[in-house]
Amino acid sequence: MTRDIISAKKNNYDAIIIGGGFYGVMIAYESACRGLKTLLLERNDFGSATSFNSLRIVHGGLRYLQTLDIHRFRESVGERKWFMENFPNLTRPISCLMPLYNKGLQRNSIMWAALNLNDILSLNRNKSVPPKNNLLNGKVISAEKVKEIFPDVDTKELKGGAIWNDGSIDDSQLVLMEILKVASDNGCTPLNYVEVKNIITHENQIKGVVAVDKKTGNEIEFHSPIVINSTGPWSRKLAKSFHKDFNDLFKYSIAWNALFNIDALSDHALAITPPKDNAKAYFLRPWKGKLFAGTVHEELTDVKDIPMPSDKSIDSFIADLNLSIPNLNLKREHILKIYSGILPVKKEGTDQLAVREVIIDHSKHEGPKGLYSLSGVKLTTSRLVAEKVVTKIFGSNITRNEIKFPVKSEREYGIFDFNWDSTKDRNGWKDILKTKIENESVVHLQDLILRRTSIGNNPLVAINQATTISKLFNWDEEKIINEINDLKEYYKKRGLSKALEN
Ligand SMILES: Cc1cc2nc3c(=O)[nH]c(=O)nc-3n(C[C@H](O)[C@H](O)[C@H](O)COP(=O)(O)OP(=O)(O)OC[C@H]3O[C@@H](n4cnc5c(N)ncnc54)[C@H](O)[C@@H]3O)c2cc1C
Repeated sequence: MTRDIISAKKNNYDAIIIGGGFYGVMIAYESACRGLKTLLLERNDFGSATSFNSLRIVHGGLRYLQTLDIHRFRESVGERKWFMENFPNLTRPISCLMPLYNKGLQRNSIMWAALNLNDILSLNRNKSVPPKNNLLNGKVISAEKVKEIFPDVDTKELKGGAIWNDGSIDDSQLVLMEILKVASDNGCTPLNYVEVKNIITHENQIKGVVAVDKKTGNEIEFHSPIVINSTGPWSRKLAKSFHKDFNDLFKYSIAWNALFNIDALSDHALAITPPKDNAKAYFLRPWKGKLFAGTVHEELTDVKDIPMPSDKSIDSFIADLNLSIPNLNLKREHILKIYSGILPVKKEGTDQLAVREVIIDHSKHEGPKGLYSLSGVKLTTSRLVAEKVVTKIFGSNITRNEIKFPVKSEREYGIFDFNWDSTKDRNGWKDILKTKIENESVVHLQDLILRRTSIGNNPLVAINQATTISKLFNWDEEKIINEINDLKEYYKKRGLSKALEN
């Protein structure tokens, strides 16, 4: 996967995909499964926007049972299975615990019924999934057992707990890269740091796009009769500039989680509702041994490149967690990183998340023939939505040959210990990183540290090791200093506290 713009320019493509998040990458993969030739253009690095900021859960559909949305439930369970089957070493089961205080629907009897329904409706969930990734049935447990699993639980009026199992995709950025690499080996040309500025049309038929290579500033034309706008939160802006505004394509909201520099509170993910009126549940998951918690949802009026919550919102979230868990004593200074992104909502100015993907064929609205725009709601179902998009465009007559993914060791994927120290590592780390630099379109230090490996999961390690790692590139002193400063800036803008950085 080399970044060869000159060769890329010479080809004609079955489709040009704009956007290298989970949705764009999955469209590239689904196209590859049908032998189609695609060009994928990403204006920054692959998977660096919303897709980098998820809570890293491949959700089944327990919560959709509340609204009896069985269609959505089945889709989610099926796609969770796809991830658990195809990436046995990059996914794992995660047990979730909800302490029950007999409030609202959070009662032992109601949860018992919901968990049973969840298990019955997902009977096929483990079919052809490697045993290590099988998901056990849910259960309701006693208050005593809850205390064993989660020692800091608020025990006042605790009546028991509900346990269910879901999928965790701890290093989702590496999964995205694996899918892109397989697509690239099978007909996709992926180019990062290439921003699409406009479409080219002739007599209202798409002919290609005009883009800018952000490395050189050069303008380039690429040719194809199909252009797929898969730019997530930016899809509406692009649709508007290429044709017209589609209100339903993406109504904005901000969603975020925080990674804290304190040990995880349990080996289970915890669904906790603060003891106050109209409180919403938070999800506190163990991630790399640390506490990773959220998701906080807020209103947002327009798309932003780095969407960050307000100070007030961060403080109120921390106060809620401290109120919910006695002795937690969480502080702002514990924040290692805020993972924040923009998600579509049902109605502007609310935080009520949209539930379905939107796929627009612009030609059906007097727009250019060959132009499509889409938005999706979660990474879990991105492959299925990609399948729908490709079928809508190219029809269902093309044979789909599922392409399998190579199973690798953790190191080959780029997984490093959360507290990795290069001076103590005798495991060929330099060769692994050099191979990635040469073969995986690495342009900046951040690409390697954050998205080709798991080193950047821990900002403190990333900043500490940045000088050593940057020596693997053929860069002069000035370039190295700039790249390291950019990395520090990246973390600062995303909540890394000064106290921790020093
Ligand atoms: C806080 C949070 C937690 C979440 N947790 C989960 C979870 O646990 N499980 C789950 O399934 N889902 C989760 N999600 C949802 C999931 O992350 C998103 O649904 C998914 O990542 C969206 O992918 P995307 O490809 O549509 O968007 P993006 O990842 O944003 O990709 C769009 C890409 O388009 C590029 N682009 C924009 N304009 C241009 C242009 N002009 N030219 C070229 N490229 C362009 C952008 O740079 C960007 O990389 C979460 C989301 C958030 C915000």
